[in-house]
Amino acid sequence: MLPQLLHKLFRFVVPHVCPYCRQELADDEALLCPECVSLMPQLPERLCPCCGGPNDGFLAACPDCTRADEARPWLRAVSAFPFYGHLREAVHHFKYHRRISLAPYLAKHMLQAWREHSDGVPVDLVSYIPLHWWRIWRRGYNQAAVLASLIAKQLHIPVATTLRRRKYTSQQAKLDRVQRAQNVKNAFRPHRPALFQERNILLVDDVFTTGATLTAAAKTILSAGAASVSVLTIARD
Ligand SMILES: [Zn+2]
Ligand SMILES: [Zn+2]
Repeated sequence: MLPQLLHKLFRFVVPHVCPYCRQELADDEALLCPECVSLMPQLPERLCPCCGGPNDGFLAACPDCTRADEARPWLRAVSAFPFYGHLREAVHHFKYHRRISLAPYLAKHMLQAWREHSDGVPVDLVSYIPLHWWRIWRRGYNQAAVLASLIAKQLHIPVATTLRRRKYTSQQAKLDRVQRAQNVKNAFRPHRPALFQERNILLVDDVFTTGATLTAAAKTILSAGAASVSVLTIARD
């Protein structure tokens, strides 16, 4: 009786609200309100294993990946959502407006997508794309690191920092394909590589656009001795 009463009192003081629209949630376990859930866009059934995006071509890889200058350096790339509408707004809030309360919902769907589409590729360590310290200081946290920790916990494997930023790079969102690749070239250096030698790493990031950042990061980790890299992102743009 008492715990229930205390819980009610707690909910009265701190209402359980939808992290997106701030509407009060009736279900204590809900990570988002039913209306916001229904507004989230969905990826189609058939996905490209190289970038996690929709694949409406004839080949196993989507036209984007088939046309790319070089093969993707990872075993598998999986995304939970397409990057538009309500989801795009949610990611924006999560990244730029300190709406860290959206993380459990996003991580849950990333994990679900990983379980459905990873095709059994091995992973034994979760890592993430690092931010420059200046950006962390301004933003308050690294959104990819927050997701990586939640995902690692659910997969019962460790999470670790495998990379550091070598330089402060311009935001990828403001650049075109060629500029993006140039911008992240030599952007990373391995961090304590002895700890991830021969490990199969699941690299977490927020949005997969051209894959330039993830490519630079994966190559750095692989040349420092990791056995393999796979990629998991919130959304495929
Ligand atoms: Zn809502
Ligand atoms: Zn693709």
